[in-house]
Amino acid sequence: MLLEGKVALVTGGSRGIGRAIGIRLAQEGAKVAVNYAGNQAAAEEVKAIIEEQGGTAMLIQADVSDSAAAAEMVTRVHGELGGLDILVNNAGITRDTLLIRMKDEDFDAVIGTNLKGIYACTKTAAKFMTKQRSGRIVNLSSVVGEIGNVGQTNYAAAKAGVIGFSKAAAKEFAPRGITVNVVAPGFIDTDMTAVLKDSIREKLVEGIPLGTLGKPEHVADAVLFLVSDAASYITGQTLNVDGGMVM
Ligand code: NAP
Repeated sequence: MLLEGKVALVTGGSRGIGRAIGIRLAQEGAKVAVNYAGNQAAAEEVKAIIEEQGGTAMLIQADVSDSAAAAEMVTRVHGELGGLDILVNNAGITRDTLLIRMKDEDFDAVIGTNLKGIYACTKTAAKFMTKQRSGRIVNLSSVVGEIGNVGQTNYAAAKAGVIGFSKAAAKEFAPRGITVNVVAPGFIDTDMTAVLKDSIREKLVEGIPLGTLGKPEHVADAVLFLVSDAASYITGQTLNVDGGMVM
């Protein structure tokens, strides 16, 4: 197993991509803290799956856009699971609308969860990782942060911000043995994309060279690689998991 003895925190681990990441990391031996915002039943299901497979999981509710709550969560995970080796900043939301109709609340909410949440969790995790002189951080961006998308100025700004944030953090923490990388998914079949109309879905698939929407497990495998020893000389990079959408 690739992650025997490691402790991982996955934000937004209750559904979609985060759920697949938590399950995958646990399959490789990591003890996994599954964070969620409000959907306790979904988070409990993830914990049950991990435990059925012989792994260890803890649940932790926290709104990552609240810096104090995020710091408290990271500290609790470190205390209760006996360390923190891996942080996957996956929690994310969308509030899509054309810019001329966008409300300040739509902009602030998306920046708050997708970008400020990463800042808050990384800041506290880095304190522990710096002390132990090792750590792996993977932040979820999106192809939208690289190429933009109509109706997603808030989301594109947040996801482009994740890439810049991660490069700066990678430079700051490299001397301490901590790597910081980004995974940028394309269109993945989760609740986030379930709201899209069939006609839009079909159009999207036409733009994907590999010809289908991705699965959460595709993203989880990329995250597993980046937190494993196989990626020990990789930092500050963005790995697209997008069926070839952006190349
Ligand atoms: P999803 O199915 O909508 O799940 C979102 C997860 O984030 C849930 O576990 C949710 O918890 C959690 N969450 C939301 N707001 C939170 C907050 N303030 N604090 C803590 N947790 C919060 O989303 P997804 O499709 O799996 O996306 C996961 C990540 O990948 C996001 O960062 C997203 O932007 C990115 N991404 C997704 C796609 C895609 O096509 N799906 C493409 C590119 C990038 P609850 O269950 O408690 O609500």
